[in-house]
Amino acid sequence: METVTNLIEKAYIYHTLTVDEVIKILMADKEETDYLYKQADLMRKEKMGDEIYLRGIVEFSNYCVKDCNYCGIRRSNKQVTRYRLTLEDILTVCKKMETVKQTTVVLQSGEDSYYTKEKMGDIISAIRSETSLAITVSSGERDIETYAYWKAKGMDRYLLRFETSSPDLFAVCHPDDDLDYRLRCLANLKMLGVQTGSGFLIGLPKETLAQLSADILFATSLELDMIGVGPFIAHESTPFKGAPLAYNRELYFRVIAILRLLNPKAHIPATTAFDALLPEGRDLLLARGANVFMPNMTPQPFRQYYQLYPGKPCLDEDGDDCAFCILGRINRLGRKVGNDAGHSKRI
Ligand code: SAM
Ligand code: SF4
Repeated sequence: METVTNLIEKAYIYHTLTVDEVIKILMADKEETDYLYKQADLMRKEKMGDEIYLRGIVEFSNYCVKDCNYCGIRRSNKQVTRYRLTLEDILTVCKKMETVKQTTVVLQSGEDSYYTKEKMGDIISAIRSETSLAITVSSGERDIETYAYWKAKGMDRYLLRFETSSPDLFAVCHPDDDLDYRLRCLANLKMLGVQTGSGFLIGLPKETLAQLSADILFATSLELDMIGVGPFIAHESTPFKGAPLAYNRELYFRVIAILRLLNPKAHIPATTAFDALLPEGRDLLLARGANVFMPNMTPQPFRQYYQLYPGKPCLDEDGDDCAFCILGRINRLGRKVGNDAGHSKRI
């Protein structure tokens, strides 16, 4: 029988595993886990280099038409104070980002129909003409015409997680959504030549280790430019309130390391929700396969209103604090900031 160490070696060389093999690595002991992290960090260094790309997130609207059962800003949560940023607000933040080594803006929001195809197109083209930033959008499901229009206006990338590859679990989590439609959105984005990012939530209620392993392999099969995954953390004002953390904390980090071994050339961000697991969560990820950091650049006083889950870090800080904090973190890790846009390595 193959040992876990053999399986890690196999993933390192061939970038392929079966569901059962992924499960075995997810259950690795301390020594095997250390080896997994070492190999994932080596793979990151070999294929992606030592640069950490800084992609500032601007959470520009927390209005959402959808009711995802895990999300703190879902439509039915009436306790949320809703807000929208203006084009001027967004441009001010983008110009600040250029001065603190951030080369991409990630425009994230709920699914907010106020931002029509044209209105969002105007925001994208203003950023394109007034800054040198690469532009990523993460605003949910839209039709192919809209994605094509935004690309024509200057959008470089799009992030849309599939959340879980199980149609049944997807239905439990999304009372008003359909996995096939979401996957079609991802296929459309790829077809249009938009750099595409996707991923999943780790530890949704009723998820099994076999399902988590299937999600890792499904994300790999999509041949993504970026893979963003994070722990599901229960929010008190959602139907999933009170759900405990599904796994021990270490297992969440193993997911990222396995993803790196299977996807050598994908950009993998150290996502914010890992800091809600452990205060140094994102720093640990950067040494275990991740190569992208997304500082929160949402201006105050709006950050407190974009609480997808409890324990989200940096809610009291402003863009300057987050920008300088990450530069210190990168320094301590002995890595360097990526000066270019950090476009896909798959192109
Ligand atoms: N509305 C867009 C969408 O859903 O694609 C973009 C914004 S949405 C808030 C970004 C991501 O937040 C989702 O893809 C989901 O995985 C994550 N998220 C929502 N609720 C969460 C929770 N309770 N714990 C961890 N992540 C959560
Ligand atoms: Fe809306 Fe996105 Fe939250 Fe779902 S995850 S409720 S689409 S903001």
